[in-house]
Amino acid sequence: MIPAPFDYERAESVDHALELLGSGRDAKLLAGGHSLLPLMRLRLARPELLVDIGRLSDLSYVREDGDRIAIGALTRHHDLANDDLLREANPLVSHTAEEIGDPQVRHRGTIGGSIAHGDPAADFPTVLVALDARFNMADSYLVGGAKLGMDVRIASPRSLWPRAEITALAGSIADETGARITITEDLAEAVLGCDVLLTDVWVSMGEPDEAWAERIRLLAPYQVNAETMAASGNRDVKFMHCLPAFHNADTEVGREILEKFGMEALEVTEEVFESPASLVFDEAENRMHTIKAVLVATLGS
Ligand SMILES: Cc1cc2nc3c(=O)[nH]c(=O)nc-3n(C[C@H](O)[C@H](O)[C@H](O)COP(=O)(O)OP(=O)(O)OC[C@H]3O[C@@H](n4cnc5c(N)ncnc54)[C@H](O)[C@@H]3O)c2cc1C
Repeated sequence: MIPAPFDYERAESVDHALELLGSGRDAKLLAGGHSLLPLMRLRLARPELLVDIGRLSDLSYVREDGDRIAIGALTRHHDLANDDLLREANPLVSHTAEEIGDPQVRHRGTIGGSIAHGDPAADFPTVLVALDARFNMADSYLVGGAKLGMDVRIASPRSLWPRAEITALAGSIADETGARITITEDLAEAVLGCDVLLTDVWVSMGEPDEAWAERIRLLAPYQVNAETMAASGNRDVKFMHCLPAFHNADTEVGREILEKFGMEALEVTEEVFESPASLVFDEAENRMHTIKAVLVATLGS
């Protein structure tokens, strides 16, 4: 099949790619093209503008970064399979790359494309989750809110602020859409005048048990409770959460947290979670319809 009409721009640098993404058009990045182009041919994806990042060689690397191995988004499967540092430090990632598709797919496909595409049948997302990779809701709210021209504020301890590149991406999009981005440690400043307060679990699946104590110490002052809602100064303020939430001690983990840390609730109190201001189940219902639509689109008629 032939894709729907689209414009094409080759990004000359990361800044150029960000500029094109923030142009306000329905733009999509093109990396190896091995997932996106088949979808476009089936007209399941119809971006208005393709931003080709395939030649941004500074996004292709495997290197040591303190006690971690950093992998650039544009690193191709073939390069991951043959990288000596990675083979030594984390052979599971190189072996996975080695097994993907055929030589053509391995020479074009990128790890960033595989993760962003998020195909449930793809190899990398599963392997990275098994290796405790984390995906951050705050990053999505920041960038999504910037695209929608919203006033987005993030309140957290500085050590948990979004990475500089995410803030820069949101900032460049905000320049185009008129969105306002605030990242602060001051909860009162962040919530004042807000229409909606959102939070998320403090410790993600796959993180070690030891993470709980440190995260609770850091984030306890940022709990969404009746006081936080009142501090918005907005009587109609709403609460949202992508779930699951630790809002009472009725679950096994909730009971353990109560026993260990003496807290009945973590990121949100029961009082707020079950209040008329809470939209959590409307949010979950919306997600269900979106998931059903994606299933229909991907299974065909
Ligand atoms: C014949 C065939 C066999 C395959 N076999 C396997 C297999 O065995 N196992 C497996 O896991 N995969 C397989 N794949 C998928 C292959 O690994 C893809 O290349 C990969 O999943 C997507 O990477 P890409 O660079 O081609 O991404 P693209 O197709 O260019 O992009 C995919 C999506 O990710 C987005 N994107 C790309 N890069 C970024 C970025 N840096 N930041 C944000 N968004 C980005 C794009 O906008 C697009 O929405 C196969 C593909 C084909 C065609």
